[in-house]
Amino acid sequence: MTINTIVIIGAGQAGANAILQLRQHQYQGKIILIGDEKYLPYERPPLSKDVILNPDSTKVEILSEQKLQELKVDVILNHAVQKIHRMEHWVELSGGEKIHYDKLLIATGAAPRRLPILDALAKHVYTLRNLDDAQALISVLQPDQRLILVGGGVIGLELASSARAKQAEVVLLEVGSTLMGRSAPRLLSDFLLTQHRQAGVDIRLDTQITAAKLENDHIILDLNHGEQLQANAVIYGIGVIPNAQLAIDAGLDVDFAIQVNENCQTSDPDIYAAGDVATQLGEDGHYHRVETWENANLQAAIFARHVMNIEHPKASPAWFWTDQLGFNIQFAGDLHVSDWHIRKIKDSKTTLPSFIAYGLKDEIIVAAITVNAAKKMRALKKMISSQTSFASITEIA
Ligand code: FAD
Ligand code: ADP
Repeated sequence: MTINTIVIIGAGQAGANAILQLRQHQYQGKIILIGDEKYLPYERPPLSKDVILNPDSTKVEILSEQKLQELKVDVILNHAVQKIHRMEHWVELSGGEKIHYDKLLIATGAAPRRLPILDALAKHVYTLRNLDDAQALISVLQPDQRLILVGGGVIGLELASSARAKQAEVVLLEVGSTLMGRSAPRLLSDFLLTQHRQAGVDIRLDTQITAAKLENDHIILDLNHGEQLQANAVIYGIGVIPNAQLAIDAGLDVDFAIQVNENCQTSDPDIYAAGDVATQLGEDGHYHRVETWENANLQAAIFARHVMNIEHPKASPAWFWTDQLGFNIQFAGDLHVSDWHIRKIKDSKTTLPSFIAYGLKDEIIVAAITVNAAKKMRALKKMISSQTSFASITEIA
């Protein structure tokens, strides 16, 4: 079948990279990009950091209007796709307009998981997912503010770091017993706990909100341990929910996220999904959902190659990063292993701690974390890919 029209739903990380990859692989047909935000595609990682700390000098755009014109993309912004008509190969926009596709990519990302007890207050409560959210937070993260952050994941910790840089007072509430528990091994959770506490973040583990009210323009929270806290604002980041409703309504296979095969195809071969909205079948026979910048780009590339009938290169170890309190922390490989070995960086130029943590399985390096040692990551990824034994590499650090 000739592919004349590719429609991409979601003008975010995966959507933007899908366009670049399609054109790079010589796709000559029509591309229609549909986004429900008012912005051209932009990067989300700076939203919790530079957009708040250096709003005037931070650029987040991935594809400019000029670039999109050069790439011959029809862009429709400010419109949500509200229905996929699979039989007719149409998507229907919020205004009722119907657009034909030959192949469709769902790249709708995810939305913050809601906490009704806080949403009910309607005032001084924030979440962070998009540029408008970040811009709203600029006036909240200010020196005279007392803030409560809820959730000790990447979003909560990066915001705690930005809030401290702005000299706001910060209490962070985490329901679990560790920080970044979803993605970081214990050694790194403990490291972050120490660093954040040293930076003045008042971290409360095993803590959750039991009641919330607004009083004299302040938020009052009751905690499970019986304590009461007061704040000017509460920001919460307690995970995300994939924006998969379109796929559910269209009858595609969805298990929380949209299930895709190794080619990022859904249960309908003409419809693909990529990024935070997708969960992909791995070589181990299980589905994996990965909420990272790299994964959004990677799955977009897989989609483009499959549409263009080009083979995928061998996958490299999964990778992501976070920036907090002056630490650039990078993660690669299978972070669930329990055998970790730390090597300090001897020639480090920073006064902050700088180290590599090697994650081993049967003495083989299967994971690595760099803390202010970004330059080592490329070599570490190679070691993971080539199943290097830990005993053979002690000279790297
Ligand atoms: P998105 O980039 O969210 O794009 C989806 C787009 O689709 C959005 O614009 C959305 O509004 C739109 N959309 C949704 N529904 C519809 C519809 N029906 N019709 C039309 N459009 C629709 N990752 C890292 O690896 N490192 C980091 O340091 C890091 N920091 C982050 C900091 C923040 C504050 C956030 C929010 C994320 C961060 N991430 C980080 C994660 C990374 O940004 C995401 O994994 C990535 O953006 C996912 O890309 P995506 O294309 O799937 O979704
Ligand atoms: P995000 O991307 O929003 O940071 P993560 O899944 O990385 O999402 O982290 C969310 C964190 O929020 C987890 O550590 C989780 O234990 C914590 N969390 C979830 N629900 C609550 C809650 N009600 N109160 C406090 N912390 C919560």
